[in-house]
Amino acid sequence: MLHVNENYSKIKPTYLFAEIAHRVSAHQAANPEAKIIRLGIGDVTEPLAPAVIEAMHKAVDDEAGKGAFYGYGPEQGYAFLREKIAKVDFQDRGIDISADEILVSDGAKCDCGNIQELFAQDVKIAVGDPVYPVYVDTNVMTGRGYSLLTCDAANGFVPGPEGCDADVVYLCYPNNPTGAVATLEQLQAWVDWANAKKSLILFDAAYEAFIRTPGIPHSIFECRGAKTCAIEFRSYSKTAGFTGIRCGYTVVPKELVAYAADGSEVNLKAMWTRRQTTKFNGASYITQRGAEAIYSPEGQAQTKATIDFYLENARLVREALSKLGYTVTGGVDSPYIWVDVKGDSWDFFDKLLKEANVVTTPGAGFGKAGEGYIRISAFNSRENVLEAIERIGKVL
Ligand code: PLP
Repeated sequence: MLHVNENYSKIKPTYLFAEIAHRVSAHQAANPEAKIIRLGIGDVTEPLAPAVIEAMHKAVDDEAGKGAFYGYGPEQGYAFLREKIAKVDFQDRGIDISADEILVSDGAKCDCGNIQELFAQDVKIAVGDPVYPVYVDTNVMTGRGYSLLTCDAANGFVPGPEGCDADVVYLCYPNNPTGAVATLEQLQAWVDWANAKKSLILFDAAYEAFIRTPGIPHSIFECRGAKTCAIEFRSYSKTAGFTGIRCGYTVVPKELVAYAADGSEVNLKAMWTRRQTTKFNGASYITQRGAEAIYSPEGQAQTKATIDFYLENARLVREALSKLGYTVTGGVDSPYIWVDVKGDSWDFFDKLLKEANVVTTPGAGFGKAGEGYIRISAFNSRENVLEAIERIGKVL
């Protein structure tokens, strides 16, 4: 008789988005004429940059000629992409990361979900509350528990390391769901803590491209000493509309080590490379040529313009809710606006759905500390955002 991995029964059911979908379709069925505007999920709405489209078309042509055809690529990613990443995302910002510390992947979700395979079963894990659920569920699937770092108004949604005894801490800035960003001092405190404790920071920078405020760090590797205690995940999903194309990368510094049971050092980049070369066969050539085009002058300008567009949506939502008397976080260096609804988050969600035909995400779905908040996403057309704001203004 085949026995299943019982840990799967400990994962909370994907209640949140299923429940939202259920409530939205019930509302639509009862009100067939209603034009529902979805500011719930964080998927992009604007098309890919022309430079990316052009590069991917050309990459298809590269595959057409015999002899020029590309088969399996390097599992770490093509050098043409890794070198651009190292230069533009890091070295041009004065950050010491080289191409051989970068492993290209099919997105940040897989990498931040899979990375925990490198750690012993009994390591102590800490995650934020509220949290992007992937960090929690992937550890629960293997039978690990976890502790919570409360992110609330009292700490500006950026918890510090004081009192944290974890071996592995997941940090995400700009944050999903709160939209909060961390300062260099706040991240430096985590890095100093991790180095002192020989712990590891898993830094999710999926929303890095939304940072516009000078001085806000784009990478954990802007902190002194981060190369001995941190791994960083990046994604082209929100940066360049790649949610459906699938590409991202993970930075594992050469000098980063963890420890074997006998106390000897084990190189984490070698372990992650081994894991990826065993279980992953790389993002496609066409995808990586598309990602490379993001780093061309045209690609940089076009993707920046799209993010500026989402940021303007975010500013409009943020200002509208503030004017209505709500305390809001995020929406400045982030596509998410986290609204203190001064009450039950599902009740507030229902009110906006039923009275304004606007879908948001109840904060309670991201963890206990998310209760009392809703997340509004800026990923939509300007027309829809303006209409949603107007409708919300009428019912609140
Ligand atoms: N990390 C965070 C915090 C996210 O919000 C998301 C997607 O919403 C991801 C990672 C996943 O990114 P990708 O599409 O690259 O898998």
